[in-house]
Amino acid sequence: MASTLQVQTVLQIEGVRKAFPRPSGGELTVLDNVDMTLKEGEIVGLLGRSGSGKSTLLRIMAGLIEPTGGKARFLGKPIDGPAEGIAMVFQTFALFPWLTVLQNVQLGLDALQIPADEAHKRALEAIDLVGLDGFESAYPKELSGGMRQRVGFARALVVHPDLLLMDEPFSALDVLTAETLRTDLLDLWSEGRMPIKSILLVTHNIEEAVLMCDRILLFSSNPGRVIAEIPVDITRPRNRLDPKFRRLVDSI
Ligand code: ADP
Ligand code: MG
Repeated sequence: MASTLQVQTVLQIEGVRKAFPRPSGGELTVLDNVDMTLKEGEIVGLLGRSGSGKSTLLRIMAGLIEPTGGKARFLGKPIDGPAEGIAMVFQTFALFPWLTVLQNVQLGLDALQIPADEAHKRALEAIDLVGLDGFESAYPKELSGGMRQRVGFARALVVHPDLLLMDEPFSALDVLTAETLRTDLLDLWSEGRMPIKSILLVTHNIEEAVLMCDRILLFSSNPGRVIAEIPVDITRPRNRLDPKFRRLVDSI
């Protein structure tokens, strides 16, 4: 039976290339011919080695840098600067140490024209969502790494973005903390409590990608490019990668 349900394309990357000038002359091609699409309702993993260009690609998606070639579209429109509906979570949290939890989270709303009392209400909601109620007046240095990253998530979620870009958000945390944070986020997502449409998770951790993502895009190095897609349902149960994809992962 034909379905009339329209699934929205949130992000479309077509033939994206990025080259940086080398100090010694010439250029370094970091990304070459990157293609990928992200649809509403998906958590997609971008799995690749360090230095393969994952953060560069995320920065292009976030409108922070321009590609040398190719197209990047968000909800059908070309990305030509930071877009209102895209939020990012960073590996090193990127909090302002001189601001409280509440102030750090409210900063996420600064670019939006929201009345102060509404901004305050939304910040409190986001803080509550990530399990930090009671810590509104704390400063980052008073928090553990896991709690700091919860603030990072609250600052991204407070804008209710259509697209959440996560750049190795768990890799600066110890194994146990990372595990708790991943599970909490997945619970929020599966309960429909995350005010977002889709997530792109950049990671170099296979187990994490298999646990969290609906599909995994395998990203090569030198140059960075999406070379294969791994459907995650094949890799389940027990969060193990299907052996037939093992060599592919080893080859990137
Ligand atoms: P990843 O996030 O996968 O670890 P990055 O995107 O951070 O990879 O970096 C990919 C490559 O691009 C690296 O070799 C890095 O040195 C280079 N690179 C990133 N940003 C710049 C820049 N602004 N100028 C020159 N080279 C850069
Ligand atoms: Mg990176």
